[in-house]
Amino acid sequence: MEKITLGVSACLLGENVRYDGGHSHDRFLTDTLGQYIEYVPVCPEVECGLPVPREAMHLEGSPDSPRLMTIETRRDITDRLRKWAGRRVIELEKNDLCGFIFKSKSPSSGMERVKVYDENGVPARKGTGLFARIFMEHFPLLPVEDEGRLSDPALRDNFVERIFVFKRWRDLLTGKRSLGGLIDFHTAHKLLILAHSTGHYKTTGRLLAEAKAIPVRELYAQYQIILMEALRLKSTPKKNANVLMHMMGYFKKQLSSGEKIELLEVIDNHRKGYLPLIVPVTLINHYVKKYDQPYLKGQIYLNPHPLELQLRNHV
Ligand code: SF4
Repeated sequence: MEKITLGVSACLLGENVRYDGGHSHDRFLTDTLGQYIEYVPVCPEVECGLPVPREAMHLEGSPDSPRLMTIETRRDITDRLRKWAGRRVIELEKNDLCGFIFKSKSPSSGMERVKVYDENGVPARKGTGLFARIFMEHFPLLPVEDEGRLSDPALRDNFVERIFVFKRWRDLLTGKRSLGGLIDFHTAHKLLILAHSTGHYKTTGRLLAEAKAIPVRELYAQYQIILMEALRLKSTPKKNANVLMHMMGYFKKQLSSGEKIELLEVIDNHRKGYLPLIVPVTLINHYVKKYDQPYLKGQIYLNPHPLELQLRNHV
């Protein structure tokens, strides 16, 4: 598979761009995920013309519209960084990004819960880094995460799943948009959507039922919004168990009673949190091959990202 293009805060790749001349190298991003990713590094502070090393900065004022200030000399960097960010996001459109990984806590790059200091110097973790805010406003549907949150196995699985879906979506958009192409895409992603949200699953079904009355561009735009909204919602053992039970229905006639009992036990143990998702999914994949089940064979839910990443071994 062609590599997926992701934006990333440059210091996470090991580039010495931090204010103190160091980096924040994240080995998972470079050594593990990096095998599948082409990174586009972005360091807002250096790219807007500040030196390395430089004076430390923080956010001040209202969390919705804070100022970026140097701490000792009290220089206001806000306008300079905002102006640069407005141009940079337009440049990034050409990179066809499938997501962005931000450096947590940074007043320029932090995605959420960045400290903003009030007039008394008291911090509240309610801010967003200046560049991160402008990026997310410009690309509202792109999957984004910060490296701190990616240490949570469920969030990591969710983010990687979303970037792989986004890549397939981008690939679909490179061809001629047709109703048939969208239906094929949706058919393959149906159970993945269901694992995140029954509501969105039904909404996509309704949208496609009315598809003939909607101009194709508009149809694709509406579908993309529902799809990315759905996948942002966390999948849980209970939701996964429902999908797995649904899949089991496709083998009703073929499974022996022993196989049924074993599969039910494994699904139930996942629901209760005793077994990771990889266990029931591996068993279902085995039956898909054994009984050559054509519909399930095409379900992205069974193989949403490379097995080598072992993301489902911990959720
Ligand atoms: S957090 Fe952002 S601004 Fe700071 S060094 Fe890393 S990439 Fe540059």
